[in-house]
Amino acid sequence: MGTSYDVVIVGGGVVGSSIAYFLSTNADFSGRIAVIERDPYYTASSSSLSTSAIRQQFGTPPNIAMSKFSIDFLREVPTRLAIGDELADIGLHEPGYLVLATPERAEAQRAKNRVQRDMGVEVELMEQAELARRFPWLNTEDLALGSLGLRNEGWFDGPGLLQAFRRKARAQGVDYRAATVTDLTMASPGKVGEVVLDNDERLSAGTVVNAAGPWSAQIARMVGAELPVVPSKRCVFVFETPERIENCPFVFDTSGFWLRPEGQLFLCGVPPLRENDPDDFGLEVDYDLFDEVIWPALAHRVPGFERLRMLRAWAGLYEYNTFDHSGIIGRHPEISNFVLATGFSGHGMMHAAATGSGVCDLIAYDQYRSIDLSAFRYERIAGNQPIKEHVY
Ligand SMILES: Cc1cc2nc3c(=O)[nH]c(=O)nc-3n(C[C@H](O)[C@H](O)[C@H](O)COP(=O)(O)OP(=O)(O)OC[C@H]3O[C@@H](n4cnc5c(N)ncnc54)[C@H](O)[C@@H]3O)c2cc1C
Repeated sequence: MGTSYDVVIVGGGVVGSSIAYFLSTNADFSGRIAVIERDPYYTASSSSLSTSAIRQQFGTPPNIAMSKFSIDFLREVPTRLAIGDELADIGLHEPGYLVLATPERAEAQRAKNRVQRDMGVEVELMEQAELARRFPWLNTEDLALGSLGLRNEGWFDGPGLLQAFRRKARAQGVDYRAATVTDLTMASPGKVGEVVLDNDERLSAGTVVNAAGPWSAQIARMVGAELPVVPSKRCVFVFETPERIENCPFVFDTSGFWLRPEGQLFLCGVPPLRENDPDDFGLEVDYDLFDEVIWPALAHRVPGFERLRMLRAWAGLYEYNTFDHSGIIGRHPEISNFVLATGFSGHGMMHAAATGSGVCDLIAYDQYRSIDLSAFRYERIAGNQPIKEHVY
């Protein structure tokens, strides 16, 4: 006889662990929960390789709503994820995001600004002269606008958030199993029955949640479902500079690179071109990307970076949704007890809390209560209704 759980979550990264946490604290849900995680040290998981920033500056209301919910939760993490008297510390900093725009992109940026303001996002649109005054280290010669988040944007210790969710979920009775899910069997057409592990155990499951991040398409295939989610490598480079760059927010440059401070150092990266981004799970750093693409762009935008020294680098995987670069969340339409929570494409750390809370609602009440995530439903793919979000 195998073990039986009401909910089995495949993948114990920040998304799976957030779902486990919210379910285990929900007074209306008393079911047994297991999280199956094959890499308990999270060596290759996106959640431990993430740069863990949060922004409100999205272009669509569903993603802005996710960010609003999540920043409120992140502020409360110390007490909500405390174990006894021991507070959880994720070092939330809120210096804002600065999104830069060329004259050609200015109108699109203004349109986004209108959506953001309608949603109550505190954001300031600055013309070139004001940008130059506020950020004297920035080369503004080819810029028309900068959009600066005034509150609720910044970065935090993402691996710390994952561990805090995990610790709290375990303290509340969630079973974390160090094993690989090798198969899912069907109880009947349209209903998952068992979760098969590599140690030959078979767990019978009331609901199975696919929170396997970059590997989630593999898990979906076990029940015959297709997910447009592929692994997409992102390299992060750490550098230092002798120049003083004061008051630096998270910067999205017009050339595509991003940049943020980390203590006395800086982190940066750039999305790869799709043709240089094979759908494999390799984690080798592409150093040419720094030398040939990022460094020239950095030195152009911040002349003080001409004398920078790159210190180290790492690579991690986005769970990249090739359909519309936004999360895919909710029940599979034809397999009612198979729930998806994946495809975040670079937003999964910041949106983990909103996802956890929404998926918990869906399982406990069969409807969204704390946050409406219906825009992220799987059905939008077949219906060709993309969430039109710009990808960074
Ligand atoms: C370099 C980089 C920078 C990023 N920066 C940001 C950022 O600034 N802000 C932001 O919000 N997001 C960012 N992200 C994205 C974010 O980190 C991810 O969206 C998020 O961590 C996804 O969490 P997850 O739990 O879904 O995936 P993961 O953390 O990958 O967890 C999935 C887990 O599933 C497990 N698993 C897979 N298959 C199986 C199986 N068959 N059996 C058992 N276990 C299995 C894996 O071991 C893994 O631990 C970044 C990502 C990277 C790589």
